[in-house]
Amino acid sequence: MNGPELLKFLVSIPSVSGSEHQLAEQLAAILQSEDFAVQREGDNLWFSIGEKLPHLLMISHLDTVPACAGWASDAQTPVTAGDKLTGLGANDAKGCVAAMIMAARTLRGAPLEGKVTFAFVVREETDGEGVRTTRPRLGAIDAAVIGEPTALEICNTQRGMLLLRCAAYGEAAHVAHAHLGKNAIHQAARDISRLAAMQFEPHEKLGISRPQVTEIAGGTARNQVPGRCEFFVDIRTTPNLDHAELAKRIAEELEGEVTVHSARYEPAATEEREPIVRAALAAAGKAKPVGSVTTSDWAFLRDIPTVKAGPGDTARSHRPNEYLHFTELEAGAEFYAALARAYFALVTKEVAHV
Ligand SMILES: [Zn+2]
Repeated sequence: MNGPELLKFLVSIPSVSGSEHQLAEQLAAILQSEDFAVQREGDNLWFSIGEKLPHLLMISHLDTVPACAGWASDAQTPVTAGDKLTGLGANDAKGCVAAMIMAARTLRGAPLEGKVTFAFVVREETDGEGVRTTRPRLGAIDAAVIGEPTALEICNTQRGMLLLRCAAYGEAAHVAHAHLGKNAIHQAARDISRLAAMQFEPHEKLGISRPQVTEIAGGTARNQVPGRCEFFVDIRTTPNLDHAELAKRIAEELEGEVTVHSARYEPAATEEREPIVRAALAAAGKAKPVGSVTTSDWAFLRDIPTVKAGPGDTARSHRPNEYLHFTELEAGAEFYAALARAYFALVTKEVAHV
């Protein structure tokens, strides 16, 4: 199966988060038939080539979001037109998975000055359960590459996500006797106005973080002063902001009660001088790393020098008629192989100089 055929195969098997089993089964069979020593934990797959240190992890995800409205054709049936393959997951992130497998094929053709583990995990789009389960099985990792569509830009930082649940408590009363009650929705509205005006210290690459109220529920009857109103706040955070501190600052400014609903998708960053960043820039022919506004499994590899890079475009993700060009796929495969070689060359050279 050549690269384009592999991508088409991956896209042809539906793998919405939580339902990756069939894809994992079939991909494992293909990799085994190519003599890759596939290991497995649930529906997470990985294999390594090379044995020496350093140990580089290349990781991407098998799952997709559910198909949204607006597809011109069946989302689960790949459509090829010339150089372009359209289908759910073609861009996010089956193109990266295919490109990494193509790179593995190339890399094992010559001696390697290090070890590369390729891991394809589940549930990246929901809770990162796949990477969290797989990581302890991989041993010590010196650097990592997250396969996500970045148009082969090298991202050395990404935003995190802090979810807060806010509650306003008032006192219910008949609307005709409003003075006897305390309107929880009115209180929530004041808090929401405060949130909408809030801005936090900007990050040099990722810019400003603005809290967004994304869901609200309050009131039980049209003729009753509401006694309770609840809403969620989603903040896409940057590496200069600490989640616990941010939650505390917000709680101090609001009248209502603030609880942390989810804080584990912390923002991530890797210093530009790290060999993995320099190797990735050299392999992609780019001068400077950039920031990525979306969160990813990187949140669970934050302690490892990591970059996020891959073929495709983040703007095509989670949208109808998602596609990837085969030229992008080929460029991605070449990039991953060149990145591994450049990283090993850089690290072994620097060790020799010490
Ligand atoms: Zn993705």
